[in-house]
Amino acid sequence: MADPKGFLKVPVRETPKRRPVALRLMDWKEVYEQGDSATLRRQAGRCMDCGIPFCHQGCPLGNLIPEWNDLTWRDEGRAAIERLHATNNFPEFTGRLCPAPCESSCVLGINQDPVTIKQVEVSIIDQAFANGWVTPHPPERLTGKTVAVVGSGPAGLAAAQQLTRAGHTVAVYERDDRIGGLLRYGIPDFKMEKKHLETRLAQMQAEGTRFRAGVEIGVDISWADLKSRYDAVIIATGAMKPRDLAVPGRDLLGVHFAMEYLVQQNKAGAGDSVAEQITAEGKHVVVLGGGDTGADCIGTAHRQGALSVTNLAIGIQPPTERPEHQPWPMAPTLFEVSSAHEEGGERVYLASTVEFLSNEVGEVRGIRVAETEYLDGRRVPKAGTERDIPADLVLLALGFTGPETDTLDTQLAIPFDSRGNVARADNYETSESGVFVAGDAGRGQSLIVWAIAEGRAAASAVDRFLEGETELPFPVKPTDRAISI
Ligand SMILES: Cc1cc2nc3c(=O)[nH]c(=O)nc-3n(C[C@H](O)[C@H](O)[C@H](O)COP(=O)(O)OP(=O)(O)OC[C@H]3O[C@@H](n4cnc5c(N)ncnc54)[C@H](O)[C@@H]3O)c2cc1C
Ligand code: SF4
Repeated sequence: MADPKGFLKVPVRETPKRRPVALRLMDWKEVYEQGDSATLRRQAGRCMDCGIPFCHQGCPLGNLIPEWNDLTWRDEGRAAIERLHATNNFPEFTGRLCPAPCESSCVLGINQDPVTIKQVEVSIIDQAFANGWVTPHPPERLTGKTVAVVGSGPAGLAAAQQLTRAGHTVAVYERDDRIGGLLRYGIPDFKMEKKHLETRLAQMQAEGTRFRAGVEIGVDISWADLKSRYDAVIIATGAMKPRDLAVPGRDLLGVHFAMEYLVQQNKAGAGDSVAEQITAEGKHVVVLGGGDTGADCIGTAHRQGALSVTNLAIGIQPPTERPEHQPWPMAPTLFEVSSAHEEGGERVYLASTVEFLSNEVGEVRGIRVAETEYLDGRRVPKAGTERDIPADLVLLALGFTGPETDTLDTQLAIPFDSRGNVARADNYETSESGVFVAGDAGRGQSLIVWAIAEGRAAASAVDRFLEGETELPFPVKPTDRAISI
């Protein structure tokens, strides 16, 4: 049988390699090793260039996956990065951090492992940076129009890059002391080293985007003032209101929101001195919440030298195989073993926190947990199943309830939707003419790939608002969600 790409000979289990656990735990470097080029080319060559590439629909950015797979297989790296950049401003972020819903919808996944699309993606951009193929693209002419982007996470950065390249004068305002949003102060270095962010910011600066760190809109400059100073404003402020847990002992010393902890470690990692840093060193650590944020706390605690790390999740352990109710090409909810889980610690499901236990000086010394019981659809602690777990540091990674809304509400009277996110029309515009919203602030806490896609789409809408027409792409609508059937 003809097999020009060597597809039939390929071993399918070629997931990205992680560095050995013992080495990783000694440092904060990224846990993944670069794939060797032969493996990558083989993986890219497994792509079948399907008539209907479902992976396009799986990727919110609509990445042209079969095209750059083919170029990678042909060893045409320069052409591959052009096709990748055509739909994705920041493949170095998604290639490292995306949960890759595209791979769940790869046609090969019906009866074997999908192409390792994400690994091919990151190899294309890493090779491009290494060879100097990523250069600034300043606009050929300026429009004379100005745009303020508030928030410098992936949504704000994607919008800013698109609009700067379209010729508008763009300033990105960020209340933190450094640019990057959750890429800077949420995600730990072992998942993505900050050098990747710095390299991209340097490109954006060279293109003309202006960055204003340490400025909080609503406090240092009012939203109304900002609106009057610029021709358009994009709100890309994220969704960082943490979900709390109202149980006895919540106020004890040593019980913290995950983000307090992760931000401090990211600052320390950047060389800042952090007064009274919350650290896991020599402590029994309990992380509440089984998502990405929880996993980041686990990996951080191990690196800081925790005595033990226990991860409690209130719900049922997800299945390890695709369940029947989430058939291909949907992205299934599966039991994930991230690099942080692989490094150690205990994971406990169906665990409901009853109370935090105190020592004589008001510090947390343990957690009382019970089995979770489902009563009328509610998850409650089952009486009689309580047990105590030692804990000197408790990290609440229970998700986020939405964007911080106080000053937006009072200074611009912008409405919010039923889930507490900033309300917007199909073109990302809020009730205020010329004020748009992109990323988690409008969608709720989501993923980097959605933030970039929304930033690109909002930029397109802003360009149309300013110029009456636009050539910028509009990859997703505010109401678009992951593939469902
Ligand atoms: C710990 C953690 C780990 C995660 N890991 C992953 C992952 O591995 N993969 C993945 O795909 N997603 C991950 N996510 C989700 C992802 O990071 C977010 O969905 C994404 O960053 C949202 O981008 P954004 O641009 O909308 O907002 P953000 O990245 O949240 O950025 C918003 C920025 O706005 C700034 N801001 C807010 N208000 C103001 C104001 N008034 N004035 C000026 N600036 C302001 C904030 O300081 C912040 O820097 C993770 C989230 C968390 C919390
Ligand atoms: S951005 Fe995410 S979904 Fe899109 S191709 Fe890359 S890994 Fe897949």
